[in-house]
Amino acid sequence: MKIESIEVYRVAMPVIYPFRTAYGDGHVIESVLVKMCSQGLEGWGEATPWDSPLYSPEWAGGVFSLVRDWLAPQLLGQEISSGDVLQDRLAFFKGNPFAKASLDLAWWDLEAKIKEMPLWRMLGGQEDTVEVGADFGVMETIPQLVETIQEAVDAGFPRVKLKFRPGWDLEMVRSVRQAFPDLVFHVDCNSGYHLEEAEIFLALDELNLAMIEQPLRHDDLLDHAQLQTRIKTPICLDESITSLERACQAIDIGACHWINLKPGRVGGITVACQILQEAERREISCWVGGMLESAIGSYHCIALATLPNMKYPADIFPSKRFYKKDLGFPEIELSGTAQVKALPFPGIGCVPDKRQLENLVVESHFLS
Ligand code: MG
Repeated sequence: MKIESIEVYRVAMPVIYPFRTAYGDGHVIESVLVKMCSQGLEGWGEATPWDSPLYSPEWAGGVFSLVRDWLAPQLLGQEISSGDVLQDRLAFFKGNPFAKASLDLAWWDLEAKIKEMPLWRMLGGQEDTVEVGADFGVMETIPQLVETIQEAVDAGFPRVKLKFRPGWDLEMVRSVRQAFPDLVFHVDCNSGYHLEEAEIFLALDELNLAMIEQPLRHDDLLDHAQLQTRIKTPICLDESITSLERACQAIDIGACHWINLKPGRVGGITVACQILQEAERREISCWVGGMLESAIGSYHCIALATLPNMKYPADIFPSKRFYKKDLGFPEIELSGTAQVKALPFPGIGCVPDKRQLENLVVESHFLS
């Protein structure tokens, strides 16, 4: 397809209540949307790096500028025949996977619309239904957390993920395990610890967790590999996996048994699919994570989550969990107790609600 125009939007989406992690408390989720046009059709992509460089070195304001000034001009007017061609055109610029992902996702939505296929089917998804888990941030008290987990268990969620940060750590996990002896759950440390604090993870070994997500530095592989030799609970890497090469290196040195795959963090659907294939070849399993995207980004995540070798319920939430009104339409809804469904329409099947986009946009730019 020849890329005829690209529009980029930075949006600020207020959440119903703050999501509390090792990075702090987020009240507004900043995201970057890309609309890519060809042959009278439009594709939508979204990258959600948040408003400040806390999760990774990227942030929405920077992603917006980079897409506008450097990345989108590389694609405009060009014949882009595949995700690989798109990635090659952008590879000249170092790093910045979220910025690259916003364009890569838009290209995939557009390509699937041109081919008149649902994206999940075009990627090779087997079933339209994706199993999701329940996630809980830091709460005021442990009894409040236990009560909330009980609701998730009663609702039939197959697994629970808990944020874990200094002050909300071992005692919290011990209490949860005591209350729920058979619960499948894991903790996400959001890179809040150092190798010198390995004792805390040795103690977690007693508590039969499904995995420990990103315990150490956001860009580390070596210390994670060392930690994994000392603990038996599998390590899952999230922040550290930013490209296919990093994923292969992490697996080769034994830094992880699991990869939390987020299309934004690795540069797009193209790279996420490459990582998934490579992980499968090396007998490492993946599951799909999320960044509290709008329904646009979430439907991309759902498409990815329909692929084989996704072995753990995804972090994909119904729109109502965090947003009064989602920026994308249709909104994400739970199907049954703990499932979401990919849509049967061409592409991701979801577009921005025009009025909601107007309400939430901070800045936008049109290139043609
Ligand atoms: Mg994580």
